[in-house]
Amino acid sequence: MTRIVISEFMDLPAVESLRGSFEVDYAPGLVDDRAGLLARVGGADALIVRNRTRVDREVLAAAPRLRAIGRLGVGMDNIDVAACDAAKVAVFPATGANSLPVAEYVLATAMVLLRGAYLSSAEVAAGRWPRARMSQGRETAGKTLGLVGFGGIGQLTAKLAQGLGMRVLASDPVLPADSAVWADTGVGRSELDALVGEVDVLSLHVPLTDSTRGLIDEARLARMKPDAVLINTARGGVVDEAALAAALRAGRLGGAALDVFEDEPLAAGSVLAELPNLILTPHIGGVTRESNERVSALIAARIDAFFKARCV
Ligand code: NAD
Repeated sequence: MTRIVISEFMDLPAVESLRGSFEVDYAPGLVDDRAGLLARVGGADALIVRNRTRVDREVLAAAPRLRAIGRLGVGMDNIDVAACDAAKVAVFPATGANSLPVAEYVLATAMVLLRGAYLSSAEVAAGRWPRARMSQGRETAGKTLGLVGFGGIGQLTAKLAQGLGMRVLASDPVLPADSAVWADTGVGRSELDALVGEVDVLSLHVPLTDSTRGLIDEARLARMKPDAVLINTARGGVVDEAALAAALRAGRLGGAALDVFEDEPLAAGSVLAELPNLILTPHIGGVTRESNERVSALIAARIDAFFKARCV
């Protein structure tokens, strides 16, 4: 019988649906047990992972029967896709299924950072009244959003932002200037260096690759307006964390929200500790109850269809 190993958490109804046709080894703890993972994939025909299981040549060598990998998300930086291709292992991402919560996260954190409000509960409950300090917040409508990467999530974020009355620009050198996407979305095309200097909110939506590592570095942070805010839901490594910390500490940037980090979990005592107007979240931009269900159901369906097609 076809055997599927699942090494990170998956919505349980989707796991149960797979059990109807396959032998399923649901072991979400394997993500933190490399030796266990290498032993368990030995008899696996498919492996389902999120973003923390490293699927590299070592895993592929330990899994001679492996034919498919389901990725409960979209970033591929934890999967050696070239090695999978060479080993004739198909890789299925959950394209589109978690775009909406990322786009909502971007707009929500942008609004919180621009307004500089909502984080006063302890002070207000304690009888202090920080009204004067909190009366300088900014509105979102009329501000300019800059998107770095204009794929699925970037385009959805643009749509939500336009609904709030924002002007949207994007930098995506892979997307040709004559692509219909620009006219269809009403988003202005910009070069990265011009973009970072022009916007009030800069939001990153690129994959982590050799060309995007360190893309938002000290020089580009220095080009940003001093009251602009930066939001990174893409991947740690796209932003230089030490340079960002220095800019926030020196008041050279209005604020930032980071959902992803160079090393996850973030180590205690990191350069990002105790900085002003900085929101840190544990890589949950794309994770909600609804998206968990959508992502898991989509991957279960894609894996099911893949093996059923091989049987006919
Ligand atoms: P996508 O493939 O649809 O879009 C990525 C876009 O980036 C493409 O249009 C591509 O042309 C562009 N791009 C590539 N290199 C670039 C560069 N150097 N400069 C500018 N643009 C460049 O992917 P998506 O679905 O929009 O997701 C984007 C990224 O968001 C993913 O790769 C993933 O890492 C991240 N993500 C994070 C979460 C989360 O929970 N925080 C959830 C989903 C996705």
